[in-house]
Amino acid sequence: MSERFAEIREGVRAVCGTFDAAYYRREGYPDELVRALTEAGWLAALIPTQYGGSGLGLAEASVIMEEINRCGGNAGSCHGQMYNMGTLLRHGSEAQKAKYLPRIASGELRLQSMGVTEPTAGTDTTSIQTTAVLKGDRYVVNGQKVWISRVQHSDLMILLARTAPKGAKKSEGMSIFIVDLKSAIGHGLTVRPIENMVNHETNELFIENLEIPVGDRIGEEGQGFRYILDGLNAERTLIAAECIGDGRWFVGKASAYAKERVVFGRPIGQNQGVQFPIAEAHIEVEAADLMRWKACELFDAGKPCGAEANMAKYLAAKASWQAGDACLQIHGGFGFAVEYDVERKFRETRLYQVAPISTNLILSYVAEHVLGLPRSF
Ligand SMILES: Cc1cc2nc3c(=O)[nH]c(=O)nc-3n(C[C@H](O)[C@H](O)[C@H](O)COP(=O)(O)OP(=O)(O)OC[C@H]3O[C@@H](n4cnc5c(N)ncnc54)[C@H](O)[C@@H]3O)c2cc1C
Repeated sequence: MSERFAEIREGVRAVCGTFDAAYYRREGYPDELVRALTEAGWLAALIPTQYGGSGLGLAEASVIMEEINRCGGNAGSCHGQMYNMGTLLRHGSEAQKAKYLPRIASGELRLQSMGVTEPTAGTDTTSIQTTAVLKGDRYVVNGQKVWISRVQHSDLMILLARTAPKGAKKSEGMSIFIVDLKSAIGHGLTVRPIENMVNHETNELFIENLEIPVGDRIGEEGQGFRYILDGLNAERTLIAAECIGDGRWFVGKASAYAKERVVFGRPIGQNQGVQFPIAEAHIEVEAADLMRWKACELFDAGKPCGAEANMAKYLAAKASWQAGDACLQIHGGFGFAVEYDVERKFRETRLYQVAPISTNLILSYVAEHVLGLPRSF
């Protein structure tokens, strides 16, 4: 099962393998890696062939993300380029798709950012306070966003804002826009980077009288929240695949170290106390992988997959974190040495229990939507 799509795996590994461990360890945006992946066409996997992409399914796309993380990299630097365009593809006008998708596929344009989260609303997205008010042929946008990733390495951003006050149907009255970042920054949009625990470019956005042409609204006014929700299953499944890539990296690294590190005159991996956490991590990662394939298959068949996508993300994020913990422990003191990369991957994989959606919110989805328990919020 794990070696499905061997050709794609080899292709992605060939690109990632041209960068060494020191490259992945380095601080700053991995522009050369993202460029190489773009030039090889991997980030355009989900764009239909008529727009210059490769028209692959979610299963293939998930393998690409998995392999980047499995090679020691962090797909968080570029996964937005793979899936953010989904909103445009599903809900954009023919003119918008023709304008943007071929240039996103070629890498000429990067649509890596999605501006949803706000400091006060947090997970309660329908309480966002950024507003977009129609004045003539433009929307005037005011508000604030937080944790918006890859803005400094994008040309375009998808932005969610309220176009009508929150009413009885709280999920209505929000709209999405495609923002041309180069012209917006300095003309209503201010970007303030957030220093954070991992090497990830993420920012606070301050929006003051930012003008967006009406033609840059995606889909119908007021339906933006639904459009964002439509993209979540793909996003969650791809994140699950990244966690599986991390999990396999940790299991591989821990196994190799347990075989070679000799203490008390024998390899540490000869002790069951050392073997078992690695075996357990492997079992958990492989089990999560099954749910990832189930989500991919349903998604690619056009069937509902909300439960499976959420469960795959939950299981995979938990498994990779457990694998990371085992790997760190097995490396003893060396787990803390930057040059072993374990502490870095340990920090990177921890993020997925919080973003793009926290574990509690997945549990709440399953409780309410799968098990029919009463709505809690
Ligand atoms: C590195 C990074 C990159 C990010 N990139 C982006 C991006 O590109 N675009 C974007 O829009 N957002 C982005 N985010 C934001 C991310 O999606 C949110 O941080 C995440 O959804 C959690 O929201 P919050 O931080 O506001 O937490 P809060 O909503 O404040 O929640 C805090 C804690 O309380 C729990 N909680 C809240 N309500 C409930 C409840 N009803 N029941 C049980 N538990 C609850 C949550 O699970 C969480 O653990 C990013 C975040 C990080 C850290």
